[in-house]
Amino acid sequence: MTSRSAGYFGAFLQRLKFRLLRSMPCGDDHSLRRKLLIGTGIALVCTGILATSVIGSALDDYRRARQNLSGLESYRLILETANLLSAERGPSNSVLGDVGVTHGALRERLTAFRAKSDAILDQLPASAGVPRDLLAPTRAQLQKGRQEVDRVAAIPRDLRRLDDVQSVIESMFDVVDIFQSVVAWKASALTTQNPELAAPVMTGRMFGELREYGGRIASQIMAPIAVSQPLPLKNLVDSNRTRGRILQLWHLAGGRQVVGHDDRRLSADLHDVEMMFFGEGLGILDGLVAEGRKSGNYSMTADEFTVRFVKTLKPLERLRGDFLDITIERFTVLRNGALVTLAVTVTITTIILGILAGLLVAAQRFVFGPLMRAREAVIVLAEDRPTVPYPEPHHATEMRRLFDAIVILRRSLAERASLTKELKQQAETDGLTGLMNRGALDMIGERHAGNRAGENAACLILMDIDHFKAINDRYGHLEGDHVLKECVRMVRPMLRPGDIFARFGGEEFVILMSGDDLAGANALAKRIRAALEAHEFVLSDGTTLTVTASFGVAKGNLGQLAWRQLVEAADAALYRAKSDGRNCVCHSQQLHPTLVPDLPKGRDADAPARKPAAAR
Ligand code: GH3
Ligand code: MG
Ligand code: MG
Repeated sequence: MTSRSAGYFGAFLQRLKFRLLRSMPCGDDHSLRRKLLIGTGIALVCTGILATSVIGSALDDYRRARQNLSGLESYRLILETANLLSAERGPSNSVLGDVGVTHGALRERLTAFRAKSDAILDQLPASAGVPRDLLAPTRAQLQKGRQEVDRVAAIPRDLRRLDDVQSVIESMFDVVDIFQSVVAWKASALTTQNPELAAPVMTGRMFGELREYGGRIASQIMAPIAVSQPLPLKNLVDSNRTRGRILQLWHLAGGRQVVGHDDRRLSADLHDVEMMFFGEGLGILDGLVAEGRKSGNYSMTADEFTVRFVKTLKPLERLRGDFLDITIERFTVLRNGALVTLAVTVTITTIILGILAGLLVAAQRFVFGPLMRAREAVIVLAEDRPTVPYPEPHHATEMRRLFDAIVILRRSLAERASLTKELKQQAETDGLTGLMNRGALDMIGERHAGNRAGENAACLILMDIDHFKAINDRYGHLEGDHVLKECVRMVRPMLRPGDIFARFGGEEFVILMSGDDLAGANALAKRIRAALEAHEFVLSDGTTLTVTASFGVAKGNLGQLAWRQLVEAADAALYRAKSDGRNCVCHSQQLHPTLVPDLPKGRDADAPARKPAAAR
C-alpha cells in the first residue's frame, strides 16, 4: 500500500469511528440510566406501598393504644368520683349521729368531703368527657341528699327520728346508685371501643362496687346507732343482704386469681382487705349488730363507728386504685411500644427511601455523569479536536480507571499521530537532499487550489545538471551525491518563501511558483544558472570543479490534467535548453506547447554559447 492510499484509509477509519461514537445509544430504550430509573421507580413505589401499609398499621396501633390509655384514665377518674360520693356518707353519718360534743369538727370534716366530691364532679366533663346532662341527675340527688342531711342534723338529737335518719341515709345511697349510670356509660364505651378492655373495666368496676357495698353495709345499721335505738329487723335484713352481695363480689373477683396480676401491691392490698375489712371491719359491725339487736345500747357513737369502720374500707379503695394504676401502667407500656414501632417504621422507611434517592443521585453523579464526560472525551479524541480538560479525578476506582484508560488512549493516539506525521514526512521527502520528492510534488500539482480564474496559475522551473553522469563516472557516486546536495544548498536561499523546491528525479530539480509571472520565473532560473556556473564545488579530496545546469521554464495551471501539461511544457523547454548547448534557460509561454509546436520559443540570451551536447 502506498503512503498516499494509507493516508486516505486512515482518514476513512477516523470518520467511521467518529460516526459510530456519535450514533452510540445514550438516551434510548437501552440506556442503563433509563433502566436504573425504572428499577428505582418500581422499588420506590413498592417501598411506598409497603411503608404506607406498615406505617398505617403502626399508626392505628398507636392511636388505639393512646385511646385505650386515655379511656382508662377517664374511667379511673369516674370510679374515683364514685368512691368520693360513697365516702361522703361517712362524715354525713357522723353528723347525723352527732351527740353535740364534737359538732364543729364533724361539720368541718363533712364540708371538706363535700368540697372534694364537688371538685371531682366538676372535673368530669373536661377530664373524662362525661356529658353534663348525664351528671345532672347525680348532682340533683346529691343536693337533695345533702339538704336532707343538713335538715335532719339540725334537729336536736333527742328529737331525731329513726325513720328520718334512715331516709336521709338512703337518699345518700341513691346518689351513688344514680351515679352508676355514668360508670356504666363509660364502661360500655370502653368495652365497645376495644373488647380487650372489658376485663380490666369489669374488674375495676367490681372493686369499686366492693368499696360501695362495704360502706353501705355500715350505713345500713347507722340510723339506729345515730339515734341510739335497737336495731330494727329491716336494717338487719338489709345489712345481711349487702353482706351477701359483698361476699358474692369478692367471690367473683376470686381474690388473686381473677385479678390476674401477681403484682406485689395487689397482693398486699388483697391481704389487707381480708385482714382489715373482712376481719376487723365486719367484726366491729357484727358486734354493733349484736348490741343493737339486744338492747340498743351501743358501745360506740355513730362517729366513732364511722371513723373506725371507714379505716377498714381503705384497703378496698387501695385495691381499686392500685388495680387501675397497674392496668394504666400496662397500657402505657403498650402505647409506648406502639409509638416506638411507629417511629422505627417511619425511620426505616425514610432510610430506605433516602438510600434509593441517594442511589439515583450517586448513579448520576458517580456513574452516568462521568460516563457521559468519558464519551465526550473519546469523541474529542476521535475528532482530533484541541484537547478538552479531563474530568477531575473521581472517587470511584472504576471511573478513575476509565479516565486513566482515556489518558492512555490520548497518549497512544498522539504517539500514532506523530508517527504518521513522521512517516508522511518520510514518504514525501527525498532522502538525499531533504527536498520534497516527486510523489509529493505531483500531489500538490494535481490538487486544485481554487476555482476562480487565475487562482490555479503557476510557473515551473525544471533544472537538470549538465553532464552529471560524467561527474559520477569520474569522481564516483558519493562525490556525485555531494554535488547534488551542494546544488540544493546553494539554490534554496535564492527562492521566495512560497516557492516549492523539489527533487524531480536523479539530477533534476523543480521549482514551483504560484502565479503566472513567467518573466519572474525566467529571471530566477537565470540567477540560479549563473550562480551555479560561478560556484566552485570542492570534493572530499580537495579537488574543485564547476557544474552547470540547464533550465526549462513554463507557465500553466495546477490541477489534475493541467499539471501534466505544465510539466511537459517545462520538460520540452528543458529539452531545448539541452539541445541549445546546455547551461542555459529556455522557456515556453504556451500553455500547451505540444499542441502549437511552431510558436516562437524563448532562450536565455545571457547564456554563453555552448558546444552542442548530446541529446537528453
Ligand atoms: P545531460 O547533460 O544530458 O543531462 O547529461 P547527464 O549525464 O547529466 O544525464 P544522464 O541522464 O545521462 O545521466 C544522469 C546521471 O545521474 C545518471 C545517474 O547515474 C546519475 N544519478 C542519478 N541519480 C543520482 C544520485 O542520486 N546520485 C548520484 N551520484 N548520481 C545520480
Ligand atoms: Mg537528467
Ligand atoms: Mg543531466
